[in-house]
Amino acid sequence: MTARVLVVDDIPANVKLLEARLMAEYFHVITASSGQEALEICERDQCDIVLLDVMMPEMDGFEVCHRLKQNPKTMHLPVVMVTALDQPNDRVRGLEAGADDFLTKPVNDLALITRVKSLVRLKLVTDELRMRASSGETVDMDAVANADAVNNSEIRGNIIMVDDRASSYERTVKFLSQEHDVAVITDPQDALFQVVESNYDVVVISLSLTDFDALRLCSHLRSLERTRSLPILIVADEGQESQISRALELGVNDYIIRPLDKNELLARVRTQIKRKRYNDCLRNSVQNTIEMAVTDGLTGLHNRRYLDSHLATLFDKAKAKQSHLSTVMCDIDHFKRVNDTYGHDVGDEVIREFAERLKKCVRGVDLASRYGGEEFVVVMPDTDVALASIVAERIRASIADHPFIVEKGAKQLAITVSVGVSSIVEGDEEPLKLLKRADIGLYTAKKNGRNQVIAEAA
Ligand code: GH3
Ligand code: MG
Ligand code: MG
Repeated sequence: MTARVLVVDDIPANVKLLEARLMAEYFHVITASSGQEALEICERDQCDIVLLDVMMPEMDGFEVCHRLKQNPKTMHLPVVMVTALDQPNDRVRGLEAGADDFLTKPVNDLALITRVKSLVRLKLVTDELRMRASSGETVDMDAVANADAVNNSEIRGNIIMVDDRASSYERTVKFLSQEHDVAVITDPQDALFQVVESNYDVVVISLSLTDFDALRLCSHLRSLERTRSLPILIVADEGQESQISRALELGVNDYIIRPLDKNELLARVRTQIKRKRYNDCLRNSVQNTIEMAVTDGLTGLHNRRYLDSHLATLFDKAKAKQSHLSTVMCDIDHFKRVNDTYGHDVGDEVIREFAERLKKCVRGVDLASRYGGEEFVVVMPDTDVALASIVAERIRASIADHPFIVEKGAKQLAITVSVGVSSIVEGDEEPLKLLKRADIGLYTAKKNGRNQVIAEAA
């Protein structure tokens, strides 16, 4: 993973130091020696993450961060404040200015690389989401809106902490519960099961468990499908650097060193929750995009595109197994009159209600679809023409027997439907013929006076 890192510091020696370390990890480094210069670089979209010194003449780091987070063009850029160790208040001020993370001088290598990588990963996901949103073709605006809500809202997470030392977890829980719901597992043997069974946003694991290898737990969590992308934050003690490195190699997302600083802990947890929520949004957006492509928006039934491709599959299967396959084609009678008399919105209500009744008449294995405006097709595997005719008659009756209640009960409309039924026969070579024959039945039903089922002879 590589990224463009902007290092901002008024002292050239500090810039050089960070630049060298980042370049050793193959990051692309850009530098700025003043807040103004940094803002211009960010505005031109030339970096992916900003490391920002707090103490600078003219415009200090807080002001720069504040301006970046106010500007819609730069608000998605992760900002890491680089603060002096003896100024704990700076952390709070940095968070208030909207900083995503902080590092203390002298900057530790492991901390630097871990934080930068973690935030770059977060940004990659948000960039992907926003790119999809602006690309226009298959936009799931709900997912994007949710993602922005993640960014702007107070984040309340569901956190699980694995720690068997009361002196340690009591403090951690006290800090975390200011912003989140926190549960504690004191028996590490139980942890894997409990974490897998529930829906947590972050798992916080103490690296110093009595008689239990915390790294083994991390590795288990990473190997299971259900917890593979669950954020893990390690709580370590001074001097455990090599174990922390191992943990990070195993895919642990971040770490924090005791004694815990409340603001640092909360900031790290918040970053992980954000990352998880963005990832979830992205996954949902992909899922919804797939669903939108095969679903009819008005009725929630499958659309014609889906029917055409799936009918071909079912047809081939039926041929191969020499089993039955039937199609039922429905067309609402005199639907144009509904629109002309009551308006298009009432027409839509009728179509929606029609679909609901249709769904209740068919089995889960049947493929019900909206084929066109007021035309519906049901494909029924393992069903011969006699059985399909019974289902078709059930559909016809379910429409004709009860009036359609529209405009919130203001009107009752008598609706009927005409139906054609066809079934696969020896020598049928393509699915479209099957549909064509159902359509012929439908046409006959219309001609014979509507509100009836015409099935082809068995
Ligand atoms: P027939 O009994 O012969 O089927 O008569 P019909 O009026 O139902 O048939 P026709 O095909 O002439 O008209 C269908 C109408 O359905 C025309 C079209 O405006 C309307 N329609 C198609 N899609 C929609 C829709 O999504 N919503 C609404 N409200 N109307 C639609
Ligand atoms: Mg029609
Ligand atoms: Mg019609």
